[in-house]
Amino acid sequence: MADLVQAMPEMAAEYARWFVNRRAYTRQSDRPHPESGRHYYYRPRRADGQEVPLTGQDLESHLAGEVTIGLYAINPRTQRSKWMAIDADYKEAVEDLLKLQYELGQDGVQAALEQSRRGGHLWIFFSKPVLAKHARRYIHHLASRLSVRVKGSGLTEGIELFPKQDVLEDGQFGNAIRAPLGIHRAANRRYWFYGSAYDLASQMVFLRGLNRVTEAQLEELVAALPEEPKAEPPPQRYPPAPGRRHFQISEYIDLAECRKVGRNWVTQCPSCREAGRDRGKDNLAIAVDEPQKYICWAGCTREQIRAALGAPLPVANLL
Ligand SMILES: [Zn+2]
Repeated sequence: MADLVQAMPEMAAEYARWFVNRRAYTRQSDRPHPESGRHYYYRPRRADGQEVPLTGQDLESHLAGEVTIGLYAINPRTQRSKWMAIDADYKEAVEDLLKLQYELGQDGVQAALEQSRRGGHLWIFFSKPVLAKHARRYIHHLASRLSVRVKGSGLTEGIELFPKQDVLEDGQFGNAIRAPLGIHRAANRRYWFYGSAYDLASQMVFLRGLNRVTEAQLEELVAALPEEPKAEPPPQRYPPAPGRRHFQISEYIDLAECRKVGRNWVTQCPSCREAGRDRGKDNLAIAVDEPQKYICWAGCTREQIRAALGAPLPVANLL
């Protein structure tokens, strides 16, 4: 078995080939936040504010459990990713991930399930980096076929896809996910991949042995997807009825122009649009059943969204 054990620098180099899409990265704080008690991720910077790029030494420290890093999903120069990770952390999370893993297998895609604090991460690896939008389109469709909810387009819980964006705009980083095989600062333990012994050397062997999806294979899977069905829009009710007391976003946004994803209408957030963001047109979700409820996944506030719609909140509501 000795030949299975890699020297640390060698292990870190192989790990980098599988997982690192760009050298920007995040690090989990060693100490919990004094108020929330949470271990937040931050982008490491030097004293002069300059960002510190990821090194092989950082990966070695991560694998040794001395630090915990987070990795970004998209290389901004190519808009591509070496992997797709599906994060689920709700009650039926593992059940949903196993459902996805099985269906992926039916498509000839081998996916590896990693434990996490409240659920799991399901990983798919590509033989060469693929366009984030292709990977996302394929998984989105698979999820909707299985009635697994995707959080980025809903108001409640669901799976989260990494990459979380189809493309990165200039200067964006997208979202980072905890890098596998390290030690979670809060839980103070490693989360292993199922399907192999729970030690680093065995896990590396396991990951090395996974089938990588080729770009041709992914493109074929995407090409085979049906056109996204255009949902039946509800009747429109604008211009606003005079004397209406409650703001209805559906009076300002044409739901016929929205896509229906799960229980939500999804479209470009008006506030994001003003800032030149959300070109993927999926930041704003409006609940189908309760169209007075809406949210911007990029975090725009109610005030910002209403201002962008030309229907600012009454001053009394802001006080
Ligand atoms: Zn927004």
